Amino acid sequence: MKKLTSSESLITINHFKNVLESEGIACRIKNEHLGSIMGEMPFVEVWPELWVINDLDFDRAKQLIDTAIVEESPQRSWKCKKCGEENEGQFAACWNCGEPG
Ligand SMILES: [Zn+2]
Repeated sequence: MKKLTSSESLITINHFKNVLESEGIACRIKNEHLGSIMGEMPFVEVWPELWVINDLDFDRAKQLIDTAIVEESPQRSWKCKKCGEENEGQFAACWNCGEPG
């Protein structure tokens, strides 16, 4: 078993697990249910962790995760020059006034 990554979001970890399992890589989530004892440990200690079962899968798993992170991350947010509203990177036009970014 090798620890691949951790994230404060269990949703993210679950997403990575799905990505790996769809590639046939066995993996396991640790700390999945530790939310209830938060406060007794330093916060970062209870982040969900993703582990690969087979060490030989580690390098490939790491690559898949890196790719998944890039695909997941929204582009940089931008500020509308017309109304000043903050827009997330994936929007080509302002969500508020429709001005192209
Ligand atoms: Zn705008």
